[in-house]
Amino acid sequence: MTELQSFGLRLVDPGAGAASRKGGAGPSDHKAVTVDGHTIMVPVHTSSAWSSPFTAQAPDAQGVSVVTRGTIPIARVSFPRQPRFYKLQTFDGVPYSHIATLHGSDVLATTVLQTCIRYESRRKMCKFCAIGQSLAAGRTIARKTPDQLAEVARMAVLLDGVKHMVMTTGTPNATDRGASILCDSAFAIKAAVDIPIQGQCEPPDDDRWFERMRAAGIDTLGMHLETVTPAVRERIMPGKASVPVARYMSAFEAAVQVFGRGQVSTYILAGLGDTRDAILEMCTQLLARGVYPFVVPFVPISGTPLEDHAPPTPEFMKSILEPLGRMVTDARLRSADIKAGCGKCGACSSLSVYES
Ligand code: SF4
Repeated sequence: MTELQSFGLRLVDPGAGAASRKGGAGPSDHKAVTVDGHTIMVPVHTSSAWSSPFTAQAPDAQGVSVVTRGTIPIARVSFPRQPRFYKLQTFDGVPYSHIATLHGSDVLATTVLQTCIRYESRRKMCKFCAIGQSLAAGRTIARKTPDQLAEVARMAVLLDGVKHMVMTTGTPNATDRGASILCDSAFAIKAAVDIPIQGQCEPPDDDRWFERMRAAGIDTLGMHLETVTPAVRERIMPGKASVPVARYMSAFEAAVQVFGRGQVSTYILAGLGDTRDAILEMCTQLLARGVYPFVVPFVPISGTPLEDHAPPTPEFMKSILEPLGRMVTDARLRSADIKAGCGKCGACSSLSVYES
């Protein structure tokens, strides 16, 4: 799985299973693939995927596809089916798939606000981010209203049995940094359907937002460091780096008080310049604070400034994920105990496979 996520996958039948995602936040240019009962997101549209040693043959009548390495069959995989809720439209006429999409096998994911103050300037934007691409391509809308989110969440639970929900957002301002929008959305969703929700935003300027988010119905919180070394942060995400790591740390401590140990997490993109030791050192600090460090392999997304940046090698990922799996287990902060969100889903990283 670690190798598949690093190298990507060539598809003989690109139409198999649920549609792949191009652009947007989260696992863009990926397709969900189920291997040995684990659903993982695998790059399929990136330039490195075109030269991957792995090829998925066309699926058989049962939807099972043989993956070959060169000419040697190495695994049987399947692709989660297209969700039924994708066929519907909201009361105000927006396709449900423009409001939220299926991630992994059972996660409903949405970018509540598809614009971002960081993205407005090419100089300040996060160089890995594609938040504007799916909007420009007409595959989503700029702002999903609480009513739209509630309607889609309810139907995704009823029709497709989704188990939890991830709400991320572009950063709308330098004060609450998206917390307010997440509160409004969660409140409406929880009134419509009982589903665990993860909210994801930059650390707000006031820790009281954590209580408000919890009261609005957000069960777990993601605040994503993305990269950990000051020089790498400045180079890769000059705008977002204006919120220092020290503020993330104080926000993590305050948020864990509200959401509980293991219910606060952070995304770390390995392969953008941080060393193995720097990432593991940061993970030690995070685990000591009760924060789940979700380390994922960076995937270059077409159309972003980093589209030609090489993904990390499987050896580099294993050198981080193997010890990190033990560290997470020792800290008793395992993926399986998270109520909602990326760490629970685990499709963008094989970290949970290394936990015991
Ligand atoms: S880990 Fe997060 S971003 Fe990745 S597929 Fe799962 S919910 Fe989506």
